[in-house]
Amino acid sequence: MYLKRLEIQGFKSFADKIEMQYENGITGVVGPNGSGKSNISDSIRWVLGEQSPKSLRGSKMEDVIFAGTASRRPVGMAEVSITLDNASRKMPIDYGEITITRRVYRSGESEYYLNKSACRLKDIRELLMDTGIGKEGYSIIGQGKIDEILSSKAEDRRLIFEEAAGIIKYKTRRDEAEKKLTSTKDNLLRVADILHELE
Ligand code: ATP
Repeated sequence: MYLKRLEIQGFKSFADKIEMQYENGITGVVGPNGSGKSNISDSIRWVLGEQSPKSLRGSKMEDVIFAGTASRRPVGMAEVSITLDNASRKMPIDYGEITITRRVYRSGESEYYLNKSACRLKDIRELLMDTGIGKEGYSIIGQGKIDEILSSKAEDRRLIFEEAAGIIKYKTRRDEAEKKLTSTKDNLLRVADILHELE
């Protein structure tokens, strides 16, 4: 499973649509300071569901939309699509290639698509769970990340190993089931109260 293609339009410094094809292997991105290298990795984290403007080096989500320059008007929408190879079917979906798209408007409205069909962020999170690719995955190692991992608490570090071992999916499902159980128990208590009042 590897990154095949990235399309960016209206995201940060990329006003016009750009497309980058990646081959299996190592790709280096070089360019002068401020030319947009980090904006490429920001776009990858964003399309994978990053919700924190701060970790995208902004103060609000609107900051990811191209804000204009002296010679260019701002745009109203940012869109990023990432295409991942899924020949190994590591992602549990019967497609050899998966394209995830995220779009945001200045109004704050956000949309997600999986192979061009509208979906929820939850669907994308579930698909990427245990692949190491998600926003909490270990596939993007930013500056200072190694130090952060080494100095973090053992329980936090454990999450990285759990993702690699492929058990996050099951833990998440267990947590959801526990929440449902708790709310069902609450409902049952309420029913018992009502029955008690009626008797
Ligand atoms: P360095 O090598 O110094 O780390 P870099 O190549 O990684 O630089 P980035 O940090 O990716 O560069 O890009 C910074 C540029 O992106 C700045 O010129 C900044 O003005 C521009 N930029 C960021 N957000 C927006 C936005 N919303 N609209 C327009 N331009 C933006």
